[in-house]
Amino acid sequence: MKTSSRPGDFATACPMPQSGYGHQAVEVENMPPELPDQNLFLGDEALVAACSREGVQWINDRAEAAGKTAGSRHFRELARLANENKPVLRTHDRIGRRIDFVEFHPAYHELMAETFRSEVHSLAWTTNEKRPQTARTILFYLWNQVENGTVGCANLMSYAIVPLLRSDPQIGDRWLSKVLSTEYDPRPLHADEKPGLTVAMAMTERQGGSDLRSNDTQAVPTGNEREYHLSGQKFFVSAPMGDLLLLTAKTDSGVTLFIAPRTLANGERNSIHIQRLKDKLGNTSNASSEVELNNTVAYRIGEDGRGIRQFIKYMTQNIRMGLSTGSAGIMRCALTLALHHTSNRSAFGSTIHDLPQMSNTLADLAIESEAAFLLGLRAAKAVDDSPTSDTDKLLSRILVPVAKYWNCRRASAVTLEAMECHGGMGYVEEQTIARLYREAPLNSIWEGTSAMMGLDMIRAFDAFPDSRDALVHEIKLATGSDRHFDAYVKNLEGELGRSTDMMEPHARRLMSMIAQALQGSLLIRQSTQEVADTFCASRLGGEWAYEFGTLQETGAPLRKIIDRAAISQTG
Ligand SMILES: Cc1cc2nc3c(=O)[nH]c(=O)nc-3n(C[C@H](O)[C@H](O)[C@H](O)COP(=O)(O)OP(=O)(O)OC[C@H]3O[C@@H](n4cnc5c(N)ncnc54)[C@H](O)[C@@H]3O)c2cc1C
Repeated sequence: MKTSSRPGDFATACPMPQSGYGHQAVEVENMPPELPDQNLFLGDEALVAACSREGVQWINDRAEAAGKTAGSRHFRELARLANENKPVLRTHDRIGRRIDFVEFHPAYHELMAETFRSEVHSLAWTTNEKRPQTARTILFYLWNQVENGTVGCANLMSYAIVPLLRSDPQIGDRWLSKVLSTEYDPRPLHADEKPGLTVAMAMTERQGGSDLRSNDTQAVPTGNEREYHLSGQKFFVSAPMGDLLLLTAKTDSGVTLFIAPRTLANGERNSIHIQRLKDKLGNTSNASSEVELNNTVAYRIGEDGRGIRQFIKYMTQNIRMGLSTGSAGIMRCALTLALHHTSNRSAFGSTIHDLPQMSNTLADLAIESEAAFLLGLRAAKAVDDSPTSDTDKLLSRILVPVAKYWNCRRASAVTLEAMECHGGMGYVEEQTIARLYREAPLNSIWEGTSAMMGLDMIRAFDAFPDSRDALVHEIKLATGSDRHFDAYVKNLEGELGRSTDMMEPHARRLMSMIAQALQGSLLIRQSTQEVADTFCASRLGGEWAYEFGTLQETGAPLRKIIDRAAISQTG
């Protein structure tokens, strides 16, 4: 089946009756209306400003189009349908033949088609414009505000594999142009018969995910050049309908990377047996599976025995950079929902939004959300500028793990608070915020847990001692305008003085401090006075009680922060 390029009509196929079965229609009062069509790009003051500031205005037309689509009621409905109608595994066909097919709701395919069409996976590799990763990050941020299972997995993997494919053209060129295609085609056909290909990743095994050296899947050469047979198990394989599976397996030389096509040249399915789908807390649009491999045909990509190094060299930075902004997108969406709900509901004779405790909470969420976005974007810019700037090269090594750790962790706190802003309705599945709350923890677990980010940061400090100076220099660009900030940075410099041998037990503390110091610095330089002052006083100056809604600030500055955060543009 190939999906149409136009969003389908199924979302509106079942109109609700005006009144039901002879009962009087219930008059509904004081209930927030549905979130209207919004343009998530044009309506976001901080986002539009970031595009100009970072020299990526060339993305504006694409971002405006993505902002309109991702902010539309139709796509929000697709997101709901794709998550409520979980993928179903069909291991066998009617007459008992193995098919290993995962069936998705049409809404999933529409979302996949649109994210691939909008170049989220490909743009960074196909454009000659300035700062492609920064620009791509903006698209990714927008799409993460509507649905995470599609854009945050199959799309992200298809994006992240490109440098690996390019590093080994003998193998990579077979598929590269089709991985970069903007055509999504879910049919289980051989790559030659498809206009575009998607990618899934299979590394984690039962006995270990963080430590890939524990991999036990065996790879045996078939005698054909670069071709192997793989046998073993993989405990987590998301998006298992990917056309290409990137796997780790052991040869005599050690853990090595392989690509296995889902369908072989003769049209038969490769031996990738899906045992079951995981019953997950969230991320339900995306199928995550357990897989058995039995003489699975796969091609070695990269050097024999150097799979973990090559995965780190070519892929992890881009995946982690993506997830840090993906989580910023989750926070932005949670904030938008909280603002909408509270400004359309009253209590105690006032709009809830304007009640003092709620204003404090909303402003607090708004500064957290903007700080997360700026942190993720700075990491992307450091990656972009690495080839021409030694400082950015050093910074990127530190900022990517720090931003991945911090933003992915904060997303859970933000979605929890945004849920409470909805009152009882927030705890009900009909509200998008309930889905976001269950989605939020995932980004900090997959693609390297928080502890792995800590180890990665320490490795970077160890291998590149000058990265400390680069980091402090970047943070100190804002010195002299906020006393809380200045004192915090001094304290951080002391912490950074620790030798890397002694850092491991303190890694999280250090990552948290780096993230917040840099967020303070970025907000001072790039946001409004109210946002920067409030962030520095609360997060850096101790005028905060580690819960949202505990800002010392009151009144007009909070109002200004909230107004800035409201999506101002309808779709
Ligand atoms: C929904 C979902 C989808 C996934 N999809 C995929 C996929 O498509 N492909 C894939 O390959 N994997 C996938 N994963 C697996 C994921 O990448 C792993 O779960 C993750 O890397 C952690 O590995 P683990 O589960 O084996 O945990 P473990 O490695 O056993 O870790 C358990 C805990 O110990 C901690 N820990 C480990 N080492 C250290 C250390 N040195 N210091 C301190 N603490 C440590 C970890 O941080 C963690 O908190 C998915 C996971 C989930 C939840």
